[in-house]
Amino acid sequence: MKQEMKQIKQMKEMTNRIARILLCLLASAALLATRPSDVNGWGAHGHELSGRAAAMNFPAEAPKFFRKAVNQLGYLNPEPDRWRSREESNLDKALDSAYAPDHFLDMELVPPAAFNAVNRYEFTAEMIKAGQKPTTAGFVPFSILEMFQRLRIEFRLWRAEKDSNKRKWIEQRIINDAGILGHYVSDAANPHHTTIHYNGWSGANPKGYTTYTRENGIHYRFEELYVQSHIQINDVAPLVGAPRVIEKPREEIWNYLRSSNALVEQLYILDKQEPFGDKTTSPEHKKFVSARLAAGAQMLRDLWWTAWVTSAPAPVATTAETK
Ligand SMILES: [Zn+2]
Repeated sequence: MKQEMKQIKQMKEMTNRIARILLCLLASAALLATRPSDVNGWGAHGHELSGRAAAMNFPAEAPKFFRKAVNQLGYLNPEPDRWRSREESNLDKALDSAYAPDHFLDMELVPPAAFNAVNRYEFTAEMIKAGQKPTTAGFVPFSILEMFQRLRIEFRLWRAEKDSNKRKWIEQRIINDAGILGHYVSDAANPHHTTIHYNGWSGANPKGYTTYTRENGIHYRFEELYVQSHIQINDVAPLVGAPRVIEKPREEIWNYLRSSNALVEQLYILDKQEPFGDKTTSPEHKKFVSARLAAGAQMLRDLWWTAWVTSAPAPVATTAETK
């Protein structure tokens, strides 16, 4: 009897210990899943450069009100990071905790079936099926696609509107939404926004890359400290290529993310050679960062241009052609 009691006591202790370990693991998983709000896209300077470079390269055939909005489109590019204000989060966490995943996508966490999801809800369903938290991987391709669709609808409304007042109101909607679209496109050009290694190498690290640091980590040094001190509009705008209409926006947005994710290790290699920061001297670092910002600006300009061009009504076939 005594022996049995002893066994029961031992089992209880073990169960308690396992429960404690599980709670610890869950708590650390929750911490890892929540990105600190100081991890932003490119910093305000990089975002503004990206928005301006895209707007400066907009084709002359586009509507004049849009071409005149270069400064405004630059100003609006960092806007969704302003919504992440710590001052506001201290009052209520509803906004930031809900929309933080709009800014990134950890490609490594995406289950294969999720790449075909029609919308963010189908995407989260695939994440859950794969045993993951629905928001852990992020949503940036959907943030881009959703804003792109809004913009195309607004251009379509603008083309059809005869009332000059209403046209002006639609113009305001177009510029604002084009600016917000710009934020998420620019975010995804930053390789950190496409990976689990978003602020230091995560997991096995045989090459000894820099690891997670909350203060002055690679994310901040790369996108803010370095960009602010080294990159100006003339380093980015001339690198933006010729405009084109994107045939399949959904596929191309995913490919755009893949191409950014493919540069994650290169970013860490460069940082190992010489850390990104305000004192960095290497021309290779400057080339890499300018090219990334330009890739973002090019994708943004092409999405704006595509929204405009494909918002035109389908040409009406002439009688001769229909016969
Ligand atoms: Zn962002």
